[in-house]
Amino acid sequence: MASRDPVADLRRIAFLLERANEATYRVKAFRSAAATVAALPAAELAERAAAGTLSKLSGVGDVTARCVAESLNGEEPAYLRRLAATEGTDLQGAAAALREALRGDCHAHSDWSDGGSPIEEMALAAVELGHEYLVLTDHSPRLTVANGLTAARLRRQLDHVAKLNDALPDGFRILTGIEVDILADGSLDQEDELLARLDVVVGSVHSNLRDDSAKMTRRMLAAIENPHLDILGHLTGRKVAAAGAGDKGHRAGRTRPPSDFDVKKVLAACVEHGKAVEINSRPDRLDPPKRMLTVAVEAGCLFSIDTDAHAPGQLDWQRYGCERAALCGVPVDRVVNSWPADRLLEWTAGHSGGN
Ligand SMILES: [Zn+2]
Ligand SMILES: [Zn+2]
Repeated sequence: MASRDPVADLRRIAFLLERANEATYRVKAFRSAAATVAALPAAELAERAAAGTLSKLSGVGDVTARCVAESLNGEEPAYLRRLAATEGTDLQGAAAALREALRGDCHAHSDWSDGGSPIEEMALAAVELGHEYLVLTDHSPRLTVANGLTAARLRRQLDHVAKLNDALPDGFRILTGIEVDILADGSLDQEDELLARLDVVVGSVHSNLRDDSAKMTRRMLAAIENPHLDILGHLTGRKVAAAGAGDKGHRAGRTRPPSDFDVKKVLAACVEHGKAVEINSRPDRLDPPKRMLTVAVEAGCLFSIDTDAHAPGQLDWQRYGCERAALCGVPVDRVVNSWPADRLLEWTAGHSGGN
């Protein structure tokens, strides 16, 4: 039998584990094994597989060594076969049409903040999913638990992304961005000059989630009125029980009620200022709740169906957001990430006074 590509098989396993919301450390085993094997000359790899010494390599354990040996023998690794058998069913009808229409993702994290993978890994996974763009939105400075980027680190990231874009395939680009904290007074946690430079600004509430309704409403309105903000991230901040062990940034199993604010006022402000409401696809968020999403559709809001991915496989979570969007009647032309990159950028520049 012709041998398979063991690196591709290991990466596919990692992707499927991430998509299943498995713990980061489990996924890491496969990603580090893939990196080790990729760096090895083919002859040495074959020799080690024959001699049974693959697991002596640093980064390769018994399980990953078995996968590599099976791949080299031309068999689909049993581990991969088992995972592939548990893949979800295909999307149907309106949800499938929405997913098909999406050209990119406006909310994703890398290992520069609390994500598990380098930017290039995230970008390559987005390319494989058929995206035309991925907006990189690492956290802002005050979110220290998530290793938020200082202004200096964000500037370095912008230089790094420019270099990566030169090397990525034509027809795909990483757009620059941030998930900026909406601070207690409604201001945004990054320098104005930087916010103006970024392609897309997602603003989210991560602290003082139990503020009373009047205070939270004022805070959110101030953020929406800020010309730099483009997308309002995970509207209510709720956490729901989700399958899988979760990852560093968003541990599953801990639930949290939605925060309290004047939904009608906040959504009306989004419409007035042309800002998009995020439909956050994470299985442990699924935010906004369906009833609120229906109100947003009726109010005339724009939307962005995002994954908030912290690992490459999680970029495939858009299906969950699409299912909910379809149920609530979200029209595809009001979904900003169904637009080509140029139109998306025109929109973000349009309400920021020129960035
Ligand atoms: Zn967030
Ligand atoms: Zn996020």
